[in-house]
Amino acid sequence: MKEIYSEIILDHWKNPRNKGRIENADIVIEDSNPLCGDKITFYLDFEKETIRDVKFEGSGCAISQAAASMLSEIVKGKNIYDIVKLEKDEIEKMLHVSLGPNRIKCALLPLKALKLGIYSYIGKKYKT
Ligand code: ZN
Repeated sequence: MKEIYSEIILDHWKNPRNKGRIENADIVIEDSNPLCGDKITFYLDFEKETIRDVKFEGSGCAISQAAASMLSEIVKGKNIYDIVKLEKDEIEKMLHVSLGPNRIKCALLPLKALKLGIYSYIGKKYKT
C-alpha cells in the first residue's frame, strides 16, 4: 500500500515547528489515537482569550505529527473561540490531502487535543 503525502506534510514531518515543551504552561493536554499509535501532548499558554504560545511533543505517523506542527503555527496568537470552530474540512485543506476514514483520525488527533486543552482552560477560567 502506498500512501501519498503532500509536500507540506513531508516538510513538517521532517522539520516540525514549535516542537518542545513550555515550562509551567497554563494547560498541558495529552491525547492519543490507539488505532495508529499516535500520541500528542500540547503545552499551551493563554493571554485572556488568545493562545499566546504553543508547543507540542508527540510520536506516531507522519500525518499526525505534521498536523500538530501545522496546527501549532496556525493557532498561535489566535482567539480560542475561533480555534474551537475549526473542523475536519479546515484540517484537510491545511494538509492539502483528502484522507480516508482511518487516516482522518490521525489528522484530527492534534485538533482534538488542542480543543480539549482550550475547553479545560475555559472551564478553569469560569470556575475561579
Ligand atoms: Zn497516525
